[in-house]
Amino acid sequence: MTQTWFEHLSAPPTATEAEAIVAWRRALHAEPELSLCEVDTQRYVREALHAQGWQPVAVGGTGLAVVAGRGTAPALLLRADMDALPVQEQTGLPFASRRPGHMHACGHDAHMACLLGVAARLRSLEDQLPGRVVVAFQPGEENGRGAVAMIDDGLLDGRWCGDPTLRVAAALGMHVWSGLPVGHVSATAGPVMANVDDFKITVRGRGGHGALPHQAVDAVVAAAAVVQALQAMVSRGNDPMQPLVVTVGSIHGGSAFNVIAEQVELRGTCRSFGRDLADQLPNWLRATAVRAAGAYGAQADCEYTRYTIALHNDAAMADLVARSAAAAPGVDHVDRSLRMMAGEDFAYFAEQVPACFFFVGCGSPGRSSEPHHSPRFVVDEAALPIAVALMGRATAAWLSR
Ligand SMILES: [Zn+2]
Ligand SMILES: [Zn+2]
Repeated sequence: MTQTWFEHLSAPPTATEAEAIVAWRRALHAEPELSLCEVDTQRYVREALHAQGWQPVAVGGTGLAVVAGRGTAPALLLRADMDALPVQEQTGLPFASRRPGHMHACGHDAHMACLLGVAARLRSLEDQLPGRVVVAFQPGEENGRGAVAMIDDGLLDGRWCGDPTLRVAAALGMHVWSGLPVGHVSATAGPVMANVDDFKITVRGRGGHGALPHQAVDAVVAAAAVVQALQAMVSRGNDPMQPLVVTVGSIHGGSAFNVIAEQVELRGTCRSFGRDLADQLPNWLRATAVRAAGAYGAQADCEYTRYTIALHNDAAMADLVARSAAAAPGVDHVDRSLRMMAGEDFAYFAEQVPACFFFVGCGSPGRSSEPHHSPRFVVDEAALPIAVALMGRATAAWLSR
């Protein structure tokens, strides 16, 4: 019965296992922590892993990792993120956040619980696995810093656990997604999540009396022109076959109703997929802002920061997940085309090894669901056993490839 381990790893959680997964998720949900501050979260996950018989190692600061299986075979990385958001929860759930102003509003609590569920299965099968699996709990996804911190600590090459034979050869990451109903799964080949950039434009004019505009240079009017020009840059300057978003998310300037503002600060984000486009954006944005502000006699300075790179799924890994999903209990629809302009720092693992980042529907079927990062965001927990079974099946498929 060579398939025993495969079937066991692929099976949906038993009622007892599913209960434990929900309990982990609710406990983690109640105590959210912000990016790279996941101290209590790390302690909780470490204790849960200890209870399963693991000896977890701290990686990337507040992250954790264990390795399942024996021998020197290349390993598959399974990654869950750990951090929450600066959001005041408004769900009214009995296990809602006990920390004011902090909330697991993206579902990372569910990711950790599901990966704990898979880890328990891997532990019970350790002697039978035909390869190795690195199970990693990653801090700091929302600020785009945690994956890099784990890679710097040697997560992909065994430095984290002192085993030079340990080499990660492929990676899987999962996100619950409220825009998909429970039972739907998406695994798309190619670019799935965007380059995320952050910019700050400072528009400088010359202050003056609100009744004497001809003696001043109005930074508010110049800033308004910059906002419009940035939108025209997308709609008129960009190739419509190449996705691009430019959002100005904050605008601050001026101090009184009758004073012409000397300075206005704009902050925003650019989202794109292609590397060429991403490389052009800093200069393009700067030139657009300088020209638009200059038409009103004002100056514009631009600070531009790359936040996270775009996430590209390997075609074979996406196919492996999609085929696993088609065979997974509870999955009734497999999509292969979902892409979005949000960012995800799993991209840094996918940059190093063939990887697939897939989405598991967590919206309640037949009901409209709140988007991620909303104070009313909820996860339909019926998604959790589906996610665990799918991750287990995809892991089994990779190990027996
Ligand atoms: Zn998020
Ligand atoms: Zn997220």
